[in-house]
Amino acid sequence: MKAVVLQAENQFKIEEVHEPKLLKNNDVIVKVTKAAICGSDIHAKHGLIPGIAPGTIIGHEFVGVLEETGSEVTRFKPGQRVAVPAATWCGICRSCKRGEVQYCVNGGVWGGGEIFGKGLAGAQTSYVRVPYADTCLTRIPDNVPDDQAVFVGDVFSTGYHAAYEGKIQMGDTLVIFGCGPIALGALVSAWQFGPRQIFCVDMLDNRLALAEHYGAIPIDARQGNVVEQIREATGGEGTDVAIEAIGSPDTFQLALKSVRRGGMVSVVGLFPTAVEFPLNDLAYYGVRLSMGLGNLSRMDQLMSLLESGKVDLSPLISHTFSLDQALDAYELFENHKDRCIKVLLEP
Ligand SMILES: [Zn+2]
Ligand SMILES: [Zn+2]
Repeated sequence: MKAVVLQAENQFKIEEVHEPKLLKNNDVIVKVTKAAICGSDIHAKHGLIPGIAPGTIIGHEFVGVLEETGSEVTRFKPGQRVAVPAATWCGICRSCKRGEVQYCVNGGVWGGGEIFGKGLAGAQTSYVRVPYADTCLTRIPDNVPDDQAVFVGDVFSTGYHAAYEGKIQMGDTLVIFGCGPIALGALVSAWQFGPRQIFCVDMLDNRLALAEHYGAIPIDARQGNVVEQIREATGGEGTDVAIEAIGSPDTFQLALKSVRRGGMVSVVGLFPTAVEFPLNDLAYYGVRLSMGLGNLSRMDQLMSLLESGKVDLSPLISHTFSLDQALDAYELFENHKDRCIKVLLEP
């Protein structure tokens, strides 16, 4: 089968690789039907994510059909459509028991490295081995197309996590920095908590328009001081909550300055470098901070929202390419060409 494989020199290549086999009794093999390109793939390409060896198949956002199930898998059988989380978890370690599956010591990001495209062979190919299948997989209802289900394992879960950790209360105001896929996932999630107003900040017209489509008030960062614009729109007070969904040290500082006294800043962006946290100033205002990786354990609930039709994420998809065209797709995505937002690959 063909796969997009990380090379040593900041590049990807399409290579012929062996099909995966079941290794453990709770493994399954998923035949990929759609896989998305993620900003983290680009970070991996440029060596910004430690621990990804050249030769790794990249990609971690995917859905497919079960091809084969291990002897201990009881909840699933071949032929079923499933959504797969970006990283697996064991379900029984202390982190998992606390519900913080993203910190699973056996399968999470800091444990055995069991992320697809880092530790586990990734999804930009035809077949993928998925461990801990009974624990991690989510069935896709018949009325949810792959084009929506593909968001449940990362974009929607991570966006929801940002909104949840922002501790949004009914009637709150909220600002989201960024209008990329994770930010838009955070936006549709944030509405579930009943805020009265959500502002979304970006510099690209099509992304701002999409945020507006999902009910946000767009703030164009090209139109001058963003913090002033937010303060003006909130009677000088600042928002109750800010979500940083870009991973930029600059927008992190803007988020800190945009919230009211005692406000909450929820960070889900991954930062390439250390960032400054001006504790000397902020202590007087009681600004609270939450950070971390997306908790992927809510896939079943988020899939229900898609099934109900209350949330439609298909407008996030701007392009679909065949796997053969993956290098063109990555080039387009990395350089923000052709107003791209989310790009899917079909094996
Ligand atoms: Zn991702
Ligand atoms: Zn665990």
